[in-house]
Amino acid sequence: MCGIVGYVGGRFAAPILLDGLKRLEYRGYDSAGIAVLTPEQAIHIEKTEGKLKRLLDALDGRTPAGFLGIGHTRWATHGAPNHTNAHPHTDCSGRIVVVHNGIIENYASLRAELITRGHRFTSETDTEVVAHLIEEANHTIPFADAVRAALHYVQGAYAIAAFCPDEPDLLVGARLFSPLVVGLGEGENYLASDIPALLGQTRRALLVEDGEVVEVRRSGVTITTLDGEVVRREPFHVNWDAQAAEKSGYPHFFLKEIYEQPSALTNALRGRLDGDRLYLPELASLDLDRVERVYLVACGTAYHAGLIGKALIERWVRLPAEAVIGSEFRYADPILDDRTLVILISQSGETADTLASFRLAKAAGAQTIAIANVMGSSITRGADAVLYLQVGPEIGVAASKSFTGQLTLLYLLALYLAETRGRMGDGGVAEVVRGLRALPEQATRVLEQDGAIEATAKAY
Ligand code: GLU
Repeated sequence: MCGIVGYVGGRFAAPILLDGLKRLEYRGYDSAGIAVLTPEQAIHIEKTEGKLKRLLDALDGRTPAGFLGIGHTRWATHGAPNHTNAHPHTDCSGRIVVVHNGIIENYASLRAELITRGHRFTSETDTEVVAHLIEEANHTIPFADAVRAALHYVQGAYAIAAFCPDEPDLLVGARLFSPLVVGLGEGENYLASDIPALLGQTRRALLVEDGEVVEVRRSGVTITTLDGEVVRREPFHVNWDAQAAEKSGYPHFFLKEIYEQPSALTNALRGRLDGDRLYLPELASLDLDRVERVYLVACGTAYHAGLIGKALIERWVRLPAEAVIGSEFRYADPILDDRTLVILISQSGETADTLASFRLAKAAGAQTIAIANVMGSSITRGADAVLYLQVGPEIGVAASKSFTGQLTLLYLLALYLAETRGRMGDGGVAEVVRGLRALPEQATRVLEQDGAIEATAKAY
């Protein structure tokens, strides 16, 4: 969801990685890190919670020497945004180094299996399973083959960059539903999650497609499928300037994020459906049987998501539900007790009036569920349950993909409430789940009609 850079060549890697990460800062992130392979084949990892500036302060001008490295800015989805969970991550030996964007849906079962086979985990991230899976495969086969073998077990979405000192001239990247590009230089090559990261270095690029692995060396680049079949791909020339590249060619972020909605919807559902059923372990600790009334509290666009949530809960769960604007809640004298469920919806998780409502609800003993996009934000701390939007950072001030993400989560939540309270049987749940699965494709088809929509908007 956030940023990756990688470099191999004849120059020191660290300044190039830091420049690339700086160029990705506009996307928003919660922590950052780099790993550099030194000429003595040692691995130097430096990572910090917070902004790049803190990483630079931690480095204090002592950027590690080395000609190969990877860097990452994180938008946490699994595990709090702290130093331990910041990327890069390593295997048990500390020799396989990985950064990752995206979500590994089956990480919980992979992690449990790896632990029974003796692996030791140091972070709470979904990402770390990749390093351990590569470690297992790398005992018997070369590094790039080990990455391909490991990824056969991984479900979800990823852009990955990895290296291992055994092959000091090799960076391996891989992609499934998260962007990854290769930058081409003379005697040096790059990896990046997005084109802006490359613009300080090169304008010749190669796209990596879903299901492909790329081996990046000083001397050249090889793209293969997960099964190791070589794929031929022509490079292209990037003629966007930095500003246009940040917006993927769209005139502004709002438009870019409108067009990102199909993939945002897919990400919001990621890991939450299991066939025709719901999978929401986040809600397991709640006592939903005792709930007698529901408030949905939010501000601005999120309040409008709340209005739809209210309608869904009343229709499917047959519980009285009310959507209230955050700034009104305190003064409306709401009925709050341990039989009240308060759902707080905020993209940032920091909306002041929603936060004040949250504190009020908690103090009165109500159960609270936060629906937020930013992991570790104030509303998510102390809520009885949190549902993260998983739609990645939103830069446009007007909400777009965060709104459709909130709606998706409210559908899942209302459905879950209906199911646990015996209001909807398997058949009904399956029908809605099938509808939700079809949504990203339908959103794509709506967006394809943008010409007609524009003409209609002008006419009226
Ligand atoms: N899911 C990973 C994590 O939480 C990667 C997040 C990202 O894409 O930045 O660490």
